[in-house]
Amino acid sequence: MSQLNIHQYPYMSDNYGVLLHSPKTGETACIDCGDASATLAALAQQGWALTEIWVTHHHADHTAGVVELKDATGATVIGPKPLSQEIAGLDKTLEDGDTFQFSGMEVQTLHTPGHTKDMINFYLPEENIVFTGDTLFTIGCGRLFECDAATMYASLAKLTALPAATLVYSSHEYTLANVKFALSVDPKNQALIARAKTVESLRADGKPTVPSSIQEELDTNPFLRADDEQIRELLDMRQASSEEVFAEIRHRKDNF
Ligand code: ZN
Ligand code: FE
Repeated sequence: MSQLNIHQYPYMSDNYGVLLHSPKTGETACIDCGDASATLAALAQQGWALTEIWVTHHHADHTAGVVELKDATGATVIGPKPLSQEIAGLDKTLEDGDTFQFSGMEVQTLHTPGHTKDMINFYLPEENIVFTGDTLFTIGCGRLFECDAATMYASLAKLTALPAATLVYSSHEYTLANVKFALSVDPKNQALIARAKTVESLRADGKPTVPSSIQEELDTNPFLRADDEQIRELLDMRQASSEEVFAEIRHRKDNF
């Protein structure tokens, strides 16, 4: 049974922010803040007082509002150890495997470098949810700005090792474009074909495609399917390593 209330809200052109609220303790966390006014509006709408800001990585669309939000609320800012760029306003830094408590529950830190060197994800085993930032998206994954494909592949493997029912909250609504690309490398995947229809109707109704689940991603996300025979056949990479197939899929997406 879920003990937390979760409120997801859009900001900027395609970002999602999330508020996590504990009715038991009154604690409220937000995941990332690219725009303080959007987070403050979401807090006011829910009637929750912010106590913590959890930052996934240094990019501006995830951090530009952190200091203003911290000043406005007095919240504590938790985020990754700076590995490439400083994040303004950090009170506490986390490394892979670090844990902390929220509403009496354990939050586990997963370091998932690939998109950036500093990327961390937040996993709440008791709630069956993971916040994947720009590492794992619905039917996609983050671009490789600061690391190589093998590093990202290993990071995605950390996420797919979580229980299949885990809900995946990612930071962007990129799914319509992602599903078009996915069909180009995995056109016969029946689960993907069915999901493409679901995604199109959700977006036509203005509804989010986030969260998804680890199981749905394993079934339909080409970046997690580098071992799939049909994908390997289509790419003409039957003998290649999984990392090589992943790198080719990422390369094709970058040029799609
Ligand atoms: Zn990013
Ligand atoms: Fe982003």
